[in-house]
Amino acid sequence: HEDGTTRADNGPYAGRLLTEVHAELGLDLVGRNNAWARERQKFPLLIKLLDCKAPLSVQVHPGDDYARAHEGDELGKTEMWYVLHAEPGAELVLGLAKDTTREELRRAITESRLEPYLHHVAIRAGDHICVPAGTLHAILGGSIMVEIQQNSNTTYRVYDWGRVGKDGKPRPLHVEKALDVVDLGVVQPRVEAAQVVEEGEGFRRAVLCRNDYFMAERIELAAGSVLRGTCDGDTCEIWGTIDGRVEISGLDLPAVRFALLPAALGDYAVRALSRATLLRTYTPPPRPWLNEQ
Ligand SMILES: [Zn+2]
Repeated sequence: HEDGTTRADNGPYAGRLLTEVHAELGLDLVGRNNAWARERQKFPLLIKLLDCKAPLSVQVHPGDDYARAHEGDELGKTEMWYVLHAEPGAELVLGLAKDTTREELRRAITESRLEPYLHHVAIRAGDHICVPAGTLHAILGGSIMVEIQQNSNTTYRVYDWGRVGKDGKPRPLHVEKALDVVDLGVVQPRVEAAQVVEEGEGFRRAVLCRNDYFMAERIELAAGSVLRGTCDGDTCEIWGTIDGRVEISGLDLPAVRFALLPAALGDYAVRALSRATLLRTYTPPPRPWLNEQ
């Protein structure tokens, strides 16, 4: 993202900014599925490591159409979290605790009594949480997470736990925009279990989150096993080792590190140097409406 860009740390592009590599390689880097993002000069995905000590604000992100119309061609933000570490009792805010109207929510926000409307979920290491655009949410303290999301920084804050910023004043809220985009249908959402879709000798693949913008999978490998795949030009893939150590086509990848596999890479092999758990993220083919825009 333009607010802070990744640098390549090895290979022929070592030291170069991801934005420069993207400009040079184009679809060979991101893949045909992301032609729409390239037209908007956006890298499609953003992955962050979050070390959350204090609660983050309660917020909501717009979808693509709203962000494009109101935020100067920004992308919307559908995101997910994978919990690497959670202290006992760690929680998140996800969705609403009860059915409510926009008017009722507006009053609760402006009168700073939003807390009874917030649905809390307990989290443990290994959990994943899918957060579609429009879902009211907050990361509370006591966790370390991988955040996988559309490459956007558009956040509408509605509640900041009564805190003030460095200047002694409360940070600004974005009440009207938040009310425009908040999905009132997300009431007490369940945190879904990972869905195992493939299992073989020393290998297990589970789908975590699937949406219009990314697919996220958890891959578990036994020590010594080798998983082969192909990047055939449709999508880049981002692999992250979250436990153990692997080698991807000669690149050493201990936990917790991520590697970007260019869409035009061709065949690759993931070798587990120990028992390993990985996150694999890639992009699905665009829906017709993404092309029309
Ligand atoms: Zn968020």
